[in-house]
Amino acid sequence: MTITQQPRIKSFETRLFINGEFKDASDGGKFDLASPATGEKFAQGESSIFFHKQLKIPVSSQDQTLIPSFSPPVAEASVDDANAAVAAAKAAFPAWSALSPATRGSYLKKLAGLILESHAELAELEAMSMGRPVSHYVESYASAQSLNHFAELGCQVLGTTSLNTPGFVNMTLRQPYGVVGAIIPWNVPVYFLISKSAPALMAGNTVVVKSSEKAPLTSAKVATLVQKAGFPPGVFNIISGHGHISGNVLSHHMDVRAISFTGSGRTGRLIQEASAKSNLKNVILELGGKSPAIIFPDANLEKAVEDTKRGIQFNSGQVCMANSRIYVHDSIASEFIEMFKKTFSQVKSGDPLLPETNHGPQADAIQYKQVQSYIEEGKKVGKMILGSEPSEHSNGYFIQPTVFVETPEDSKVMKEEIFGPVVNINTFTDEDDVVARANDTEYGLYASVYTKDVNRALRMAKKLESGMVGVNCTSPTSAQDMPFGGYKASGTGREGWTVSIENYLEVKSVFIKIDDE
Ligand code: NAD
Repeated sequence: MTITQQPRIKSFETRLFINGEFKDASDGGKFDLASPATGEKFAQGESSIFFHKQLKIPVSSQDQTLIPSFSPPVAEASVDDANAAVAAAKAAFPAWSALSPATRGSYLKKLAGLILESHAELAELEAMSMGRPVSHYVESYASAQSLNHFAELGCQVLGTTSLNTPGFVNMTLRQPYGVVGAIIPWNVPVYFLISKSAPALMAGNTVVVKSSEKAPLTSAKVATLVQKAGFPPGVFNIISGHGHISGNVLSHHMDVRAISFTGSGRTGRLIQEASAKSNLKNVILELGGKSPAIIFPDANLEKAVEDTKRGIQFNSGQVCMANSRIYVHDSIASEFIEMFKKTFSQVKSGDPLLPETNHGPQADAIQYKQVQSYIEEGKKVGKMILGSEPSEHSNGYFIQPTVFVETPEDSKVMKEEIFGPVVNINTFTDEDDVVARANDTEYGLYASVYTKDVNRALRMAKKLESGMVGVNCTSPTSAQDMPFGGYKASGTGREGWTVSIENYLEVKSVFIKIDDE
């Protein structure tokens, strides 16, 4: 079946939002967007930007080795644009940080309402650019909730006092850093945009967000809502473009004092390095995962099957905490695998703009090829029991739900993040052995255990090396008031309703000598 899309939205914002105004890139740079469901470009036009033949980077048109670029309409923020966004944020900082928390919060509340009103449009824009089915779009609700939560949190930013040093009354002050950078991925863009910006703004910082080149449209839409909510110019800047250009500027910028990043480990390391090479800005990293789910014989089998299927199928497996490794006890393995295979094969894939679709394509050709190459690798080392039949769609980047069994623990498909609807199911007999295998990875984002034995559940929760553990539940289950983040190479720092504001505050100790006479 060939998919032909009929988006209802014909025009959308694609420009940079800097200092309260929308503008094209300073050098006219633009990039195109293709629908992952059809492979066809839906955002393109004429452009004067030139790209180097080999390096594929924008360069001057005088260079003879150049080819004219494809000419799409999403603004590619230049180095100058990224610098301008930081300068605008720096200029806006003194006045914004001097406002009362209640006044700062009032802007966040307005934005929350506008995001909720835009739910349908945001859902469609995401379906068009990265292929998330509209039926699964909940980010607007979660983002509005976060904005409303942080809007009330400003007054809780408090220091401490101490009388422990004789002759002194000492205290700490909590103060904003100044300009905060946020670099976000494409898989859950609006939520990451808000979950980083809202606490940073409430703490009194000003913000520059760079959206992902794969999903820039919802961030640009949020920028229109920021403008509508009346944020003072320069407080909340949102730019689009590729990481090696504007993202690189933000991570190296001497005036950006803290940066929060969600994305791949590869880029996370570059950002950490950029911080070390520039001003040692505070870096918060939320990175990838290879999350294990462990199923014991006393588990509720139907629930474990349904949960773990949802964990790997949600967003077509493009979720950092997806349970991509399942360890099932040998005594229930054949029953579990049969049930899992049956339910996983029943997804309804198709045009993400249609309400009946629950399984969209991979985000773009790059993601598609990457997942396919892991599937080919998996076939060499493991046994594929579901998947790989030709997609029922003749166009688009669709991957069938795929299951491997008996995969060697040291193989690439067991060690690396695939970021697709691909799961490895292995068996175990011994608790210590399965813990060792679950922990034998550089990742440590999420792990889950299914058992009715409370002692075993707590033993496992203690032993599993991951930032989050689900007991009789699995990813994407989490809680707003619990810290979100990973052990080991899955990240540094934590985010969430109770902890994020701390990421954007300095601590100052003030020593006050008093005359006791
Ligand atoms: P990515 O690292 O390719 O890109 C993320 C962002 O970084 C994009 O905005 C990109 O433009 C930017 N970027 C790229 N190179 C850069 C550079 N040199 N300097 C500065 N910025 C740069 O990741 P992705 O493909 O967008 O997202 C998928 C990855 O994100 C997966 O590994 C996934 O596990 C991870 N992820 C983690 C979480 C979490 O909370 N732990 C959540 C979602 C996704």
